[in-house]
Amino acid sequence: MRFLLFLCLSVLLVSCSQEKPTDLLTIYTSRQPQLLEPLLEQYKEKTGIEVILLSGKAPQLMERIAVEANATEADIFMTVDAGVLWQAGEKGIFEEINSEILNKNIPEHLRDANGKWFGLSKRARTIVYNSDLVFAKDLTSYEDLAYPKWANRLCLRTSTKVYNRSLIASMIDVDGFAATKNVVQGWVNNLATEVFSSDTQVLKAVSAGQCAVTIVNTYYLARLADDPKYSNLKLHWANQGGRGTHVNISGAGVIKYSKNKTEATKLLEWLSSNEAQETYAGANKEYPVMDAIAVGSILKNWGPFKEDLILVEKLGSLQKEAVLLAQEAGYK
Ligand code: FE
Repeated sequence: MRFLLFLCLSVLLVSCSQEKPTDLLTIYTSRQPQLLEPLLEQYKEKTGIEVILLSGKAPQLMERIAVEANATEADIFMTVDAGVLWQAGEKGIFEEINSEILNKNIPEHLRDANGKWFGLSKRARTIVYNSDLVFAKDLTSYEDLAYPKWANRLCLRTSTKVYNRSLIASMIDVDGFAATKNVVQGWVNNLATEVFSSDTQVLKAVSAGQCAVTIVNTYYLARLADDPKYSNLKLHWANQGGRGTHVNISGAGVIKYSKNKTEATKLLEWLSSNEAQETYAGANKEYPVMDAIAVGSILKNWGPFKEDLILVEKLGSLQKEAVLLAQEAGYK
């Protein structure tokens, strides 16, 4: 009798688990797994859904999804930079998702108009300066850094980084190609050193006095903020008198080939919710997509800022022009 009962229970369990093949999701991501794992643990406790991460570089992951096509395990592709998400959209790997929750939680300018991808955190790219060498009142805008008063005082990261391509794209959108090229040429003329390969390196050069001012994503400054060695690094919110500071996103979309689009959409909806946003954005000291969400103390100290409300998809569609412009301006 006991044996029979055990058998029945087993059969029940098996049939139950067969009815729920939807309790597993896979995210292909270029984000560091440790930024996501605590949140995904929380999601598993809440919903029973286990999320597996497959990490890699964005271009390879996009290519892999396109090649794997129907055989892919990927339900979601998550990465940083609107330029990259736009490319993924152009590659045709995303399903168009029309979700009331995502459309409500995420401001229109931070997501694809057709629902292919959605911004999940904001990344501000702004001016940072050495307070031993520069007065705050002398800083205004990205464009201002092209004037001769900054000669031999500017350091920049390479233009081959997508963050700078997206910044240049945002300038092309508002000022046009020719005017933006003049600005970028001015930057190049003002460089105190060769371009750097990372935001952190360039910040350290500014702190050391190799140069006085640079343009970086704020979370790199936040990472150095607790170290007294770098206390002379200060943030300036660029272009507050005009269009506002350049803002990019990290984000994600549901894969066209996913066998689990409903659950994949639900996960994105949860990541955009009040409950998850503080942790998601806070893990890398980024900004939540909703202004009402609390930010950590470093970001609080920097205060609120006016952000450029450009549709971030334009950072993708103008990317090719931005690459060409950097080349023509001699910005390596
Ligand atoms: Fe970064």
